[in-house]
Amino acid sequence: MTFTLAIVGRPNVGKSTLFNRLVGKKLALVDDQPGVTRDLREGAGRLGDLRFVVIDSAGLEMAEDDSLQGRMRRLTERAVDEADICLFVVDARAGVTAADEYFADILRRRAKHVILAANKAEGRAGEDGAMEAFGLGLGDPLRVSAEHGEGMDDLYRALVPLA
Ligand code: GDP
Ligand code: MG
Repeated sequence: MTFTLAIVGRPNVGKSTLFNRLVGKKLALVDDQPGVTRDLREGAGRLGDLRFVVIDSAGLEMAEDDSLQGRMRRLTERAVDEADICLFVVDARAGVTAADEYFADILRRRAKHVILAANKAEGRAGEDGAMEAFGLGLGDPLRVSAEHGEGMDDLYRALVPLA
C-alpha cells in the first residue's frame, strides 16, 4: 500500500526544498522569489521504509480570479483533493500570516489528513513561530528544517499511522 502526500503552503515557506529532500533529487526549483513553482510536480518519495508519491504544489494563492494565481490555487486544491495526506508547511521564522490562516481553513474543510510542519526551525530560530502555528488549530506542528534535514524522524512518525 502506498499513499499520496501533497506538500502545500504559501510561497517561499520551503515546500520545494522539502520535496527535493523526500525525493532525494533536486527535481524542484528552489528560489528566493515566491511563486517559482508554477505547476504540480510529482516524485517518488521515501522516508525510512515508507514509499509514497509526493506532490510539490504551487504556493496556495489567495486570488480567486482567472489570473495565474487563481489557476495555481485551483491546481493546488486539486492536489489537496487527490492527496491522501497533506503536509501543510508554514515558515517558523516568519510566523503565521493571514495567508496561512486562510489556507488552514481550506485544509480543515477539504483535506483527508493534515500534518502541520513549521519549517526553517533549525537551531533555536522559529520557536515563537512554531508556537504561533499551534494556533492554526491543526495540532502540534512538527518542527523541521528542510534545508538541514532536521525533524525528518518526527515526520516519519507522523506519517506511519496514516500510511
Ligand atoms: P517554496 O516556495 O515553498 O517551494 O520554497 P522553496 O523551497 O523554494 O524555498 C524558499 C526559500 O527558503 C529558499 O531560499 C530556501 O533556501 C529557503 N529554505 C527552505 N527550507 C529552509 C530551511 O529549513 N531553513 C532555512 N533557513 N531556509 C530554508
Ligand atoms: Mg516551490
